[in-house]
Amino acid sequence: MADFTTTLIHHPYQPPAGFVAPQPGVFKASTVYFPNVCAMREFDWKDKSAYTYGLHGTPTTYTLEARLCTLEGGQQCLLVPSGLAAIATVSLALLHAGDEVLLPDNAYGPSKALAEGELTHWGITHQYFDPMDPADLAAKISPRTKLVWLEAAGSVTLEFPDLVAQVRLCKAAGVCCALDNTWGAGLAFKPFDLTPEVSPALAVDISVHALTKYPSGGGDVLMGSIITQHEPLHMKLKLCHMRLGLGVAANDAELVLRSLPSMALRYHAHDVTTRELALWCEQRAEFAQVLHPALPHSPGHAHWHALCGHANGGAAGLLSVVFKPEFSQAQVDAFCNHLTLFKIGYSWGGPVSLVMPYELASMRQSWPTHLQQGILVRFSVGLEAAADLQADVSNALNALI
Ligand SMILES: *Cc1c(COP(=O)(O)O)cnc(C)c1O
Repeated sequence: MADFTTTLIHHPYQPPAGFVAPQPGVFKASTVYFPNVCAMREFDWKDKSAYTYGLHGTPTTYTLEARLCTLEGGQQCLLVPSGLAAIATVSLALLHAGDEVLLPDNAYGPSKALAEGELTHWGITHQYFDPMDPADLAAKISPRTKLVWLEAAGSVTLEFPDLVAQVRLCKAAGVCCALDNTWGAGLAFKPFDLTPEVSPALAVDISVHALTKYPSGGGDVLMGSIITQHEPLHMKLKLCHMRLGLGVAANDAELVLRSLPSMALRYHAHDVTTRELALWCEQRAEFAQVLHPALPHSPGHAHWHALCGHANGGAAGLLSVVFKPEFSQAQVDAFCNHLTLFKIGYSWGGPVSLVMPYELASMRQSWPTHLQQGILVRFSVGLEAAADLQADVSNALNALI
């Protein structure tokens, strides 16, 4: 008779076979058993037909990867512990000493910090290009350029670039282009099908997505994905991913799997409310500029309209305002403090609306000519009723006078 501890571990109970339910099971593992030594030697960790180690994938992570490929229109997917880890993995996998990476000047801030604070130590240089001027990108691509980051819309300032022109330039120069697709989320436009009328369609090489935002939808998960269309590029990224020891927890993967079915509905709801609030903000005398790509006066609106202006397109849930220069930092801070439904916090994509003031001067090489002078505040619109959010902003503005 085996010891109690042993029978507790080697218990005979087997659940009934054939349990089928809406939500897939959550498989947790560091160790994965092999049926025998021969199988252990034959199983290839790169081959998804088998399991070899928790870090290399489980049924839970394989399921999430497959669904994210469907969402973004790609073929292969890697999961990482955050959106920023996805950006870092792409850069570390593709760049070597002597190479240069180009980033748009309105890139996600921590992505710029990675280039400035880490890549430089490895002998990898970077330059920022004007996201609104493809000629500037063209002029900065050199034989040393090995990776170009793209982002649409831009972080915080929400300018919409001519993404199609940018990707064409990268293709013509034979440079790998990676898109931070967190804003578009696979719903506003198709990153691997940018010119559906052309065959073969123009596509980015890599789409990186902070699943932390819309796919999670709860403000309670950190995760990122790296999606590709070509196996050799995927394998390069996968080897780096494996060597760095990156993986995600099964419970986190499950949370994203649970939220994916409602993602398109949520994205649409964020979008509708944000457009309503943006139009209302345009009427307010306190703001010098309202930044939202679906507004005709917002920088890059025509590019947004061409790519995302169709029935199945979208504009996400972000909106920024530039206060008129007569409003001091203290007044803008007081405005943010006065909001009750909008909480002060980073990130977006959850049910709760968020607000954040930004110091644009410290974020850009120089003040962009298409932006008015003044203090910028970004709203991330949640799932609350539009009228309530509008009343919240209105009350906070009225308190300034
Ligand atoms: C939030 C965000 C990221 C990073 O995601 P984390 O999971 O928070 O690391 C990357 N890019 C964009 C555009 C983001 O908004």
